[in-house]
Amino acid sequence: MEMPNDGLEHNPTALERAAEQPLPNADTLANEFEVLQHPAPATQTQWQEAMEKLQFGTSFSDHMATAHWNPQQGWHDKQIRAFAPLEISPACSVLHYSQTIFEGMKAYRHADGSIWAFRPGYNAARFAYSAQRLAMPTLPVSDFLASLVQTVRLDARWVPQQRGASLYLRPLMFASQAFLGVHPAQEITYLMMASPVGSYFASGLAPVSIWVAQDYHRAGPGGTGDAKTGGNYAASLLPQIRASKAGFDQVCYLDAQTNKNLEELGGMNVFAVRRDGALITPKLTGTILEGGTRSAIARMCRDEGRPVFEQTVALSRLLEGIDSGEITEMFACGTAAVVVPIGRLAGDGFDVTLPGSSVAQRIYDRLTGIQQGRGKDPYGWMYRLA
Ligand SMILES: *Cc1c(COP(=O)(O)O)cnc(C)c1O
Repeated sequence: MEMPNDGLEHNPTALERAAEQPLPNADTLANEFEVLQHPAPATQTQWQEAMEKLQFGTSFSDHMATAHWNPQQGWHDKQIRAFAPLEISPACSVLHYSQTIFEGMKAYRHADGSIWAFRPGYNAARFAYSAQRLAMPTLPVSDFLASLVQTVRLDARWVPQQRGASLYLRPLMFASQAFLGVHPAQEITYLMMASPVGSYFASGLAPVSIWVAQDYHRAGPGGTGDAKTGGNYAASLLPQIRASKAGFDQVCYLDAQTNKNLEELGGMNVFAVRRDGALITPKLTGTILEGGTRSAIARMCRDEGRPVFEQTVALSRLLEGIDSGEITEMFACGTAAVVVPIGRLAGDGFDVTLPGSSVAQRIYDRLTGIQQGRGKDPYGWMYRLA
């Protein structure tokens, strides 16, 4: 039974509570990792070229953070060093059994030149959750943060100036033990790399088309759907290719148990907007990744008096709602694009359009305003890195 509520009440999730823990000031974290300066960082010309044509995840800053773990020493060898290829054994267990997790967040340059991350405590807590699910050691929040602070301070020139652009930060942990047996690795590598990225939308929010997969799932009950792990993405590639071939931008998945209820896209959560302005989003069931963007949007909207209902979203009822005009908009959300209006939703036996995107636009403006330092940040979500 779903309890009726007014959509304005919310019990914070474990991740949201963890993200509320106060974080140490960046200045106190400036020496946690040993810095080995890149002997040959990008030249001014190379840097300029990279910063002029910003795409997603194609160029990288000069340095990366690395750390290693084993049961005897715990986390050790914490270093900031040149972004360069790694040497690993062909028997490295991540290559065989995918014991790996990652995070994704952005550092923004504000008008006064200062550099800020959006809710890094949330990402640190989720990284710890994912680590536990994948039977890996958790990285202390202070080490996670220090890797961001020190890399960004060293590579500050890689944080773009242009509006909407940012330095995408990618923490990663993987099983680096050379061993073919199936057991949790006794050697783990942590990496944190940084990639300057442009605004996902060069000129205004552009709606995407979504294919609802009825014959593929990204996650199942008891699986790893709520952990940020590469295998979930690997599972999404074939359906993504099929959808692209049929002319769609992205895939939306249904729950594996009933094949009836909306879950999320391969890398973004979804919302529907009701005619009265209320938001509806699939409730967290253990197979949905708990997005920080989802959480931030729900918080902002509830505080503005816009109800947000986290509930079961049956595809059949959603389609009825779109047909009757009860549902006026849908959008997806995640760190990379922030908010993406959904203009078309199709699957076996249906193909509907959603003309609206004004609520998505308002949410996008408000959230990117906070992230880019133009709007007030009443939640203390922004963390000063440099
Ligand atoms: C990362 C991710 C999201 C979005 O999370 P954010 O914290 O908002 O970036 C949503 N779904 C999946 C499957 C993801 O991996």
